[in-house]
Amino acid sequence: MNYRSTRGGVASVDFADAVRMGLATDGGLLVPEALPSVAPETLEEWRRLRFQDLALELIGPFVGDALPRADLADLIDRSYATFTHPEVTPLVEVGDAWILELFHGPTAAFKDVALQFLGNLFEYLLARDGGRLNIIGATSGDTGSAAIAGVRGKERIEIFILHPQGRISPIQERQMTTVLDANVHNVALRGTFDDGQRLVKALFSDLPFKERYRLGAVNSINWARILAQMVYYFYAWGRLAERLEGRPVTFAVPTGNFGDIFAGYLAKRIGLPIERLILATNRNDILTRFVASGTYATGEVYATLSPAMDIQLASNFERYLYYLVGEDPGRVRSLLEEMGRTGQLRVTGEEHAQVQADFAAVAVDDAATLAQIRATHAATGYILDPHTAVGVRAGAGRADLVCLATAHPAKFNEAVRQAIGREAPAPASLRGLMDKPTRCAVLDADIATLRDYIGETLAGRP
Ligand SMILES: *Cc1c(COP(=O)(O)O)cnc(C)c1O
Repeated sequence: MNYRSTRGGVASVDFADAVRMGLATDGGLLVPEALPSVAPETLEEWRRLRFQDLALELIGPFVGDALPRADLADLIDRSYATFTHPEVTPLVEVGDAWILELFHGPTAAFKDVALQFLGNLFEYLLARDGGRLNIIGATSGDTGSAAIAGVRGKERIEIFILHPQGRISPIQERQMTTVLDANVHNVALRGTFDDGQRLVKALFSDLPFKERYRLGAVNSINWARILAQMVYYFYAWGRLAERLEGRPVTFAVPTGNFGDIFAGYLAKRIGLPIERLILATNRNDILTRFVASGTYATGEVYATLSPAMDIQLASNFERYLYYLVGEDPGRVRSLLEEMGRTGQLRVTGEEHAQVQADFAAVAVDDAATLAQIRATHAATGYILDPHTAVGVRAGAGRADLVCLATAHPAKFNEAVRQAIGREAPAPASLRGLMDKPTRCAVLDADIATLRDYIGETLAGRP
């Protein structure tokens, strides 16, 4: 299987190159040149597969000849061996809906499903094809810890994660700084999250520095992340298939950068019988406004109780746009040019009708999020995290509903306490974090300081 850019400037790279490239070199996102399809009979046969075996069947066609099947199977098995639940992503019945628990990985949030796989894949490709990778990223919370957990201790990879000193939750900070592997470099910046993002951007646009230190990113646009996330939509359907008696299923997806829900869209396109994808946002509702109006326009970013969804622009949105306009890179480019020029883009009436057929979008504010945590707990005893609560509220009243649970509630205990007056019990991965030893450099938010730090850290490495 080969990949091309949504903007048309990259063509016919194989899966390994698509993974290595991350962002396409023309600034677009990589997508398959053609999508495989899963026949209904095949879907029936896959109903009882273990998560890992299902992942191999689903991801295999997208990998094509780039990796031997046995190697892919081994990568998948190792990636999900770090999950504490034997089903990896179990489906549990809560009231009149189903909750798909995606938080049994090392950092208790759904990003582990993709980043455990991506870390192993990077390591495999570097060992096979040579080279080294130095990952640099800025985080305001969840992504940093999941990325660190994905590559800790891996050969040929170093990771530098910048977080704003004192401005992330103590648990999130400890989830990163208690990882003592020699290839993990935490940096607390004397500054804000925006300072961190600005510095990372500056490093990546310093091409000589980028080349010399082989810098790479682990942002949410890597195609391998989308593939890993597609698997649990099929898995959930398989667990429910008998009860559904042929009816399609509806998924409610707490959405920020559009990676998770795009994986659901992909699942539907290749053959999973999905009735509706419910795009659930918090007060940061750029995507909800797009579905309602057909115009995608940036707005202000608000801090909410579901911080992993506090975004202004959804980085995976361009992939959906590509499919919406009939896989036409020229049209994608002109829409993005319009966006760059005017701060907004507008699709045609026909396309807008298609958007509304693909998604039902609902924005849920903090008050409604807390009310949902309270209501679900009162009715069933189950504790939702605030991100998951946004999805549950957005999907309320729908039949055959599966809500994606994107974080363990103990990660967001402040909101949980506000809602129900007590905390959720912590899973093993979050216990004892405050007592463990930590390692972290504290630096001024200044490009020269950061460059020096990276240079000195990597000086003794091959
Ligand atoms: C990242 C994240 C989301 C949003 O997922 P996207 O793929 O960015 O849409 C939702 N909930 C939690 C807990 C997250 O960490």
